[in-house]
Amino acid sequence: MIRPATISTLGPLRARPIPISSSLRHLSTTSRVTSQPHTRLSSNFFLSHTRPSPRAPPLGAKRSASFQFPAFPPRSFAAQYPITSLCARLVFSSILGLGLLTGVILLHDAFTYSERHVDRVPTNALALQPRKGGKKNLPILEVNLDDEEDEVKRDMKGKPRLVIVGGGWGAVALIQSLPPAAYNVTLISPQTYFAFTPLLPSACVGTVEVRSLVEPLRKLIARVRGHFLMGSAMDLDMAERLVEVEVPSDQGEGTMRCYVPYDKLIIAVGSTSNSHGVKGLEHCFQLKTIPDAQAIRRRVMTNLELAALPTTTPAERERLLSFVISGGGPTGVEFAAELVDMMAEDVLKYYPKLLESQVQVHVIQSRDHILNTYSEKISEYAEKKFARNDVTVWTNTRVQEVTPDKVIVTVKDPKDRDAKAVTKEIPAGFVLWSTGIAMQPFTKRLVDILPNQYHSKAVEVDSFLRVQGAPKGTVYALGDAATVHVGLTTELMALWEKFDVNRDEKIDFSEWESMAKYIRKQHPLASQHFEKIRDLFEQYDKDKDEKLSLNEMAEMFMALEKKVTSYPATAQVAAQQGGYLGHMFSKLAKQHKVLRANDMPDLDDEAYHSPFNYHHLGSLAYIGNSAAFDYNGWSFAGGLIAMYAWRSVYWSEQTSMRTRVLLMIDWIKRGIFGRDLSKF
Ligand code: FAD
Ligand code: MG
Repeated sequence: MIRPATISTLGPLRARPIPISSSLRHLSTTSRVTSQPHTRLSSNFFLSHTRPSPRAPPLGAKRSASFQFPAFPPRSFAAQYPITSLCARLVFSSILGLGLLTGVILLHDAFTYSERHVDRVPTNALALQPRKGGKKNLPILEVNLDDEEDEVKRDMKGKPRLVIVGGGWGAVALIQSLPPAAYNVTLISPQTYFAFTPLLPSACVGTVEVRSLVEPLRKLIARVRGHFLMGSAMDLDMAERLVEVEVPSDQGEGTMRCYVPYDKLIIAVGSTSNSHGVKGLEHCFQLKTIPDAQAIRRRVMTNLELAALPTTTPAERERLLSFVISGGGPTGVEFAAELVDMMAEDVLKYYPKLLESQVQVHVIQSRDHILNTYSEKISEYAEKKFARNDVTVWTNTRVQEVTPDKVIVTVKDPKDRDAKAVTKEIPAGFVLWSTGIAMQPFTKRLVDILPNQYHSKAVEVDSFLRVQGAPKGTVYALGDAATVHVGLTTELMALWEKFDVNRDEKIDFSEWESMAKYIRKQHPLASQHFEKIRDLFEQYDKDKDEKLSLNEMAEMFMALEKKVTSYPATAQVAAQQGGYLGHMFSKLAKQHKVLRANDMPDLDDEAYHSPFNYHHLGSLAYIGNSAAFDYNGWSFAGGLIAMYAWRSVYWSEQTSMRTRVLLMIDWIKRGIFGRDLSKF
């Protein structure tokens, strides 16, 4: 039946057909539409093959015999069942799309296999047989095995040598912000990969796999055409600019030492755990590295299997299932949360129920609250969550000793500070030690050989991250290994000279204003203490002569220096510092040709760059199927949505798409199949 030419519109307008104008009709091209004018157009919204084509020939033009794909589903079916037809089309196009994608991936994969061979690689003789020298007459690795490989590498030989010691957060951020091929970069690290530490607690129980948290350093350094050297820095010869490195020898059985020359050395060796002088730490696990996470996972699974044996005595079972975590900071809390998740989600399902009911998780914290660097609200939220999950939180408690089967602690009464601490024993089948940081051996060595180094946990650097006491512009340190020191008292005389403009041996208010402005700019870490300059001036102008004497000034600087707290030992700080140095060196690289032409080896960093300024982007913590965020006094803690937000942040922070994909797969895998409970 041929209906009048109309376009049906949806809704109320349906009742009032709109006649198609003659010009619209001209847009119809197919013979069918021409022979059955506009009927299909008006009758079926879903029949796209009957929709007018924008490339339609004008009326009267000769129709060419063009090829048409067969319609799917057939037109008669589509006309009868428009919705089913649309669904069928969607399914068909999805299958087609997936098929095409798989085809492209397979094709790409096929092209990645190659049988390329390299013959006669040009190599410098000095790379194969390094000359010996330096104070200890060790081989000096001046030339790399790949220096003659291609034009770019040959060109790199003349570039300033940038040696980075360490392959963690700080080092990787630095590499990622350096311009490609501007420096002859060498990265030295005993590990061949960068590890994403914030997710290490998840790897301890198999929520994610360790392979999803690592990125090979060689891949990261390739961007700047740099070199990787597997080894550990041991010592430093600052006069000859040589860093002494221990590398494996005798097929990895032994070690040997060599020198790596540098123009600029960046120390990014991170930190180790602080023992706080506690006895028996050899019975504890640490959580700093990938092998640490693997060892913990092995021990957790071993304890569960041993506890599941009918031959295990009840007392031994109780001990095996007692997990003690010393340290109520983010690492300790996140590990405890992951452990509890695992017990509730997987152990309950696949092990005798008795085990889950006997598992005890203890978190020991020396302060009043866990997560004490976060807001009070978050600490309370975490404590309440742990109480609900039967995690025992021991606050105001210190570990005195760890033995193979127990932890001895002393507990203080927070209400009665004078009361004697009570000693208690906690049976333990597993102890995690995560209480603060200490120096790596290389950092310790550096602090020993340098003057003006007084910090007990890190090497002191100035606001440009230059190691104090080392020749200026040659040695930098960042991340956990470094602490920014604001040496106001040591700078006092220089500041006095600069700002006592009228030379009256006093600093009046206008001179003080300029001085405070300068200090705020040069020492961002201390800037908040130099904001109320009128108050400071009046507070330390003891004789009320409206001027500050040298003694008054010294007193003020000593008091303010004590108030300055260093940046926290976090990945966020390390990454920002790495990025800062990368930016600074990029700027310097642009001047390199001019400097070399003028026979100037280097520039003072102050001359071309501003000091390091940290921007806190907030803190995150996972607390067992929920998460907490803290940002400049604003805090938020919550359930699944917060947890997904927490995951998204870490997902976006990954160094590569590869680890992003792996992480996503791990999270989905855990959701569908649960954690892998195998023990290797
Ligand atoms: P690292 O990243 O520790 O890297 C040090 C590198 O130096 C390593 O590659 C090491 O092998 C290498 N090295 C050591 N000695 C030598 C040597 N002698 N010679 C050559 N190389 C050497 N921070 C956050 O901001 N958010 C978090 O959620 C968070 N969670 C954490 C969870 C865990 C379990 C841990 C352990 C830390 C966490 N941190 C977090 C802290 C963060 O990981 C550190 O602050 C950060 O790694 C410091 O970066 P870095 O570059 O100084 O040192
Ligand atoms: Mg004066």
